[in-house]
Amino acid sequence: MADPELVDVVVVGLGVGGEEVAGRLAEAGLSVVGVERDLVGGECPYWGCVPSKMMIRAANAIAEARRVDGLAGSTEVRPDWAPVARRIREEATDTWDDTVAVQRFTGKGGRFVRGTARLDGPGRVRVGERVFQARHGIVLGTGTRPSVPPVDGLADTPYWTNRQAIEVEELPESLLVLGGGAIGLELAQVFARFGVRVTVVEALDRVLALEEPEASEVAAAALRADGVEIHTGVRAERVGHDGRAFTLRGAGGAEFTADRLLVVTGRRAHLDELGLDTVGVDAGRRYLTVDDRLHVTEGIWAVGDVTGEGAFTHVAMYQAGIVVADVLDHARRADAGADPSGTASATGGAAGTGAGGSARAVPRADYRALPRVTFTDPEVGAVGLTEHQARERGVNVQVGLARLPSSARGWIHKAGNEGFVKLVADADEGVLIGATSVGPAGGEVLSALVVAVHAAVPLARLRQMIYAYPTFHRAIEDALRDMS
Ligand SMILES: Cc1cc2nc3c(=O)[nH]c(=O)nc-3n(C[C@H](O)[C@H](O)[C@H](O)COP(=O)(O)OP(=O)(O)OC[C@H]3O[C@@H](n4cnc5c(N)ncnc54)[C@H](O)[C@@H]3O)c2cc1C
Repeated sequence: MADPELVDVVVVGLGVGGEEVAGRLAEAGLSVVGVERDLVGGECPYWGCVPSKMMIRAANAIAEARRVDGLAGSTEVRPDWAPVARRIREEATDTWDDTVAVQRFTGKGGRFVRGTARLDGPGRVRVGERVFQARHGIVLGTGTRPSVPPVDGLADTPYWTNRQAIEVEELPESLLVLGGGAIGLELAQVFARFGVRVTVVEALDRVLALEEPEASEVAAAALRADGVEIHTGVRAERVGHDGRAFTLRGAGGAEFTADRLLVVTGRRAHLDELGLDTVGVDAGRRYLTVDDRLHVTEGIWAVGDVTGEGAFTHVAMYQAGIVVADVLDHARRADAGADPSGTASATGGAAGTGAGGSARAVPRADYRALPRVTFTDPEVGAVGLTEHQARERGVNVQVGLARLPSSARGWIHKAGNEGFVKLVADADEGVLIGATSVGPAGGEVLSALVVAVHAAVPLARLRQMIYAYPTFHRAIEDALRDMS
């Protein structure tokens, strides 16, 4: 076995969270090894947020052009996927090449290692034949991969996950989407707007099942208006592929066929691959259990999707800030001799100089005001608890709802004005604990509601605010008035 190389920190997985942590720790002067087996940047820039939002931008342009009829004359729209595929290839992903991202990291002083990493005992990480001993800590940012349900026959078929759907150069004529969550609906609407016959099959009794039921209704109606067939309450039982088309049979005998099948039924962490047993951590869980400073166990932190605190890029970035502060705090203490096991930094860097390693209190993670946006048209933005979740927790709930079409801006907007603002308040505390904003700018309107939940702004203060006329966000004032 090779002698371990002594470094300050090893970051395993350079997706959104890992890259941020590794880059910032390297900039702070620590010697950082970042290990990535696939592409630096992770799912978001190559197969997730960025290319999918480019697809959505293009599909929304088509939808908006079609709304000219009845508002501003007439248009004839001839969708063409080629510019979308080209933009994803050339602008978003460099044809799925991470050279620039690797340079971004090494330019900050980090050391990049391509490969699959495994823990190899306390403080140690193995990548093939190489072993690194981390003086100050190990950060696991290994993300998630698609979770494919154990449907009879499915594994033997050439089904798509989000990766093939994002990489597609030529659209199929028809597409079955298994899963009516955020990713499934976003992609279903995009492809439908480009002329693909899309059918969504969802096992639960509504799409976007984690959001407010009113949001599910508006989203389903919008997709149906785009020609998407939606079947809820259908559990897939068997999938077949005859070399040309897919057949999906649901419980109760329903049968669907299409040229392609996209499986978007959630994502899962693969903890069994990480060597967690060598550091006494249970690998049998769904996600890595972390405390509010993202600690997994002594000397190990986790960041991003692998923590199960919300599979969003903004969660990974938020957590990264806490991990960076905490690792630097540990390094500073170790270098100052506060930690009896601590020795000088491998580079004599941040921990010794105090760069970024100040004694400021390390922030603690707080997900009360976690925002989430499904980028369908209309967008579904939400923060905090839904009404159902709040009632389940025994909160004395107050709810208010205002529909956009009957607001001044919604009425002016006309075509494409579906949506609402729903507020969920804790009546005893007099503050919002959750809100949903659905509409043409639902994700943007959400920001005011995130501030309200995050800062626990009293309802009385929100009622005293001046809301610009005629904006979509004035629906917040209408919903406050509706509160009973
Ligand atoms: C289609 C789609 C659309 C999305 N849209 C949005 C959106 O609009 N907004 C939003 O906030 N989020 C969105 N997300 C979610 C977002 O992409 C993730 O939350 C984000 O990528 C999580 O970052 P991460 O660093 O935790 O993990 P990842 O980005 O998954 O990165 C983890 C990295 O670790 C590497 N790795 C794993 N194990 C090892 C190992 N043992 N050794 C070395 N390397 C390893 C992997 O190769 C990977 O590169 C979307 C996701 C998808 C799939």
